[in-house]
Amino acid sequence: MRDPQQTIPPSAPPTRVLSGIQPTGRFHWGNYFGAIRQYIELQSVGESYYFIADLHALTTVREPDRLRGFVRDAALDLVALGLDPDRAALFVQSEVPEVTELTWLLMTVTPMGLLERCHAYKDKKTRGLAADAGLFTYPVLMSADILAYDATIVPVGEDQVQHIEVCRDLAGTFNHLYGDVFTLPKSRLVEAGARVPGTDGQKMSKSYDNTIEVFEEPGAQKKKIMRITTDSRPMEQPKEPEGDHLYDLYSLLAPAADRQAMADLYRRGGFGYGDVKKALVTAAADFFADARRRRALLEADAGAIDAILARGAERARAKAGDVLCRAKRACGLSRAPGGGGERGRKQSRGGEA
Ligand code: ATP
Ligand code: MG
Repeated sequence: MRDPQQTIPPSAPPTRVLSGIQPTGRFHWGNYFGAIRQYIELQSVGESYYFIADLHALTTVREPDRLRGFVRDAALDLVALGLDPDRAALFVQSEVPEVTELTWLLMTVTPMGLLERCHAYKDKKTRGLAADAGLFTYPVLMSADILAYDATIVPVGEDQVQHIEVCRDLAGTFNHLYGDVFTLPKSRLVEAGARVPGTDGQKMSKSYDNTIEVFEEPGAQKKKIMRITTDSRPMEQPKEPEGDHLYDLYSLLAPAADRQAMADLYRRGGFGYGDVKKALVTAAADFFADARRRRALLEADAGAIDAILARGAERARAKAGDVLCRAKRACGLSRAPGGGGERGRKQSRGGEA
């Protein structure tokens, strides 16, 4: 059930949107249809900041060259998939050091118990795995990510709603102690229902090794698609398309008319899964053809993606610098006196209804 608190009425001023994605691997169809596509659409609703969360990824990716590669690929992929760097500031998280400084300020108002209840840490502990302080304090860094840009809207999946609540809690405590410093954000659930199945029918996920990557080399992608597991239904037997993971994948990628024709074919029976797989190969190639072209052009243009990221970081730093300065002054980390209360009178706090 969607919490009405988290639904943004169309009339509310959606001033600043913040989204981030971890560069922990190449993006797969699950990432695209479950998150990236919706995040990119939000670039049109207002001022938006889009970051590649390399500091968060550092808790899982331990090979420097891989991490560097994932960050670069993430940037190329996002722009190729439609993120417009003239509209949204696209940047790498670690290039805005103001955020890590802000993390410490927030850490001083973070109760241990609050972090102990957060699921990323709790899940790992329950499974008997060793967790580091980076994973434990991850929600504080995430809070700083959001608060540094006075973000009012943060699109997230179900699993991240808890972290937005942590962010609101910490911002609320800080504001209570020091005045009106931080803007309280709201989470916006990205369209539910986009649980993309993997090649084995489970949820598509890097950890399950069942992914199909968006920009995978076409030959390799075709091989993966042809190996998607199917049930042992005889070819002649009619079948309901919905819930069949091969059909579900096809329906994400195929134009509406083709999707309907395929559903009819399932219900009529007398076809082979091999045909569906071939149709899926073609649908995927068509769906991402423009994005692939854009990506190839961008990659061939030496320095283009670096320039985009540098410009994005500059914009992000300008904003984060203001917020950090406000926070430092408010809590006494500045020789210039002044509390956050001043801002309350001058600026409106977009996040609160
Ligand atoms: P991991 O296995 O490490 O959890 P992942 O492949 O599941 O990785 P995440 O980094 O967890 O990918 O997810 C990034 C974003 O993509 C999240 O917003 C998540 O909700 C979304 N996402 C990932 N997989 C799917 C999927 N199969 N269907 C819908 N959304 C997905
Ligand atoms: Mg996941």
